[in-house]
Order: sequence, then structure tokens, then C-alpha cells
Amino acid sequence: MVIIKSLEEIAIMRQCGKIWATLMRKLKKEIYAGRKTQELDIMVSRELEELGAKASFKGYQGFPCHLCISVNSEVVHGIPGERILREGDIVSLDLGVKYKGFHADGAITVGIGEISPQAKELMAATQGSLQAGIAAAKCGGHLGDISTAIQSYVELRGFSVIREYTGHGVGRALHEAPQVPNFSFGGRGILLQKGMTLAIEPMVTAGDWHTKLAPNQWTVLTADGSLSAHFEHSIAIIDSEAEILTQL
Ligand code: MG
Repeated sequence: MVIIKSLEEIAIMRQCGKIWATLMRKLKKEIYAGRKTQELDIMVSRELEELGAKASFKGYQGFPCHLCISVNSEVVHGIPGERILREGDIVSLDLGVKYKGFHADGAITVGIGEISPQAKELMAATQGSLQAGIAAAKCGGHLGDISTAIQSYVELRGFSVIREYTGHGVGRALHEAPQVPNFSFGGRGILLQKGMTLAIEPMVTAGDWHTKLAPNQWTVLTADGSLSAHFEHSIAIIDSEAEILTQL
């Protein structure tokens, strides 16, 4: 069931989003060649504690870390560890922040140093599709408008959207109804209403959209080894247009 939030609840989610943005800005500066991904996880843990917030992902269905770091052909749910980031990598950072009983969820993909033209185009298409999806998230519209906007934007640029993972409602729970697919699902879906809070998160690949699971049973990889990018914002539908809660 879709949970409609009051303006007071959305105000708390706005605070979650501000904490998310503060941390994501810091993290972005820490993404460079030679960085061990585990060091970033430790940093997030420390910073969240200082801000009086918690990592939404830590312990979620047993997830072992505070954020997901997915590199190159890793789509989502990459586990920080011994991996050393290198020049030319594209790195997706996915972070959920829990504060005063609510969550904000968001992701960005950043390149390290000189990245390939294909990687640049993929990242731009993914980020652009997120903006297109958010622009379609308005009162009186339908959920499927978001999905269609994202898919069209991506496919017009020659890339593919992942089907097996979707965006979602967000609020007191990290994952609430409804699912927010990044592809047309037939029909327009539910009506979008004031007070709905959604995490919209296109995951896009340069090749085919099929995925496989890494041996760690968490990290999702493109089946064909192609590059993947991921951008996500938590939004609130307030009036005719959506407010981005995780604005960087
Ligand atoms: Mg999410």
C-alpha cells in the first residue's frame, strides 16, 4: 500500500536528504585512483555517527556495509572491501540515510580521471533519464509516466535499462510500495498524488540489460560485462512538480 506523507513527515525527510547530500559531497572528493573502497565505508560510518544519523543499508537483509560501491560492470549492491579504485573506473555510490525515523536514498556515478567516451555518454544518459523521470513525477500523472520517460530517454541514446531492479517508495521504511520500474510495464500504473515519496533510480548499461549475481550473493553485474551507471534521487510529490529531497 502506498503511504501518503504529511508535510511534517516530508520536512523530516528533507532533513534526511540534507544529511545525504552533505555526505555525498564529501564522498565525491574521496573517489580517486589508489583509494581502497573499504576506506570510504569507514568514512561514511564515522560521518553518519557525527551527524546523529544511521546508514539505511547496514544490516538490511544482512548487507554488511554502510554504502554500496559498484565499479564498472557492477550495477548495484557492490560491497566495499579490498578493491583499489583505478584511473578510468566509473564508480557508483549508493547511500541510504536514516534520521528521525525516516530514510533518504540516493546514488551517483563518478568517473576517475580520464574515462572512455562511452562511459561519459552512459553516465550522462543515466543522469538525464533520472531528470526526465523526475519531471514526469507530478500530481495527477501516473507512475508509468515516470517509467516511460526514463526508458525512452535511455534507449534513444542507445543504452539499456535494467529490468530486474527498480526504484521504490521510501519513507519510514527504506523500501515501500510502489515499485518504480525504469521501463514501461503496460498500462499507466497508479495515480501520483501529493505526499507520495519515491526513490527513482535508473540503472543503465552500455550493453544488454540482463544481470547476474556475483559469488558474494550481493553484487549485481551486467551479464555481458558491459559498463553500468546508476543515479538515484528521493523525491516528494508536493504540488504540480516533485521536490528532490537528495539534491546535491
Ligand atoms: Mg534505492
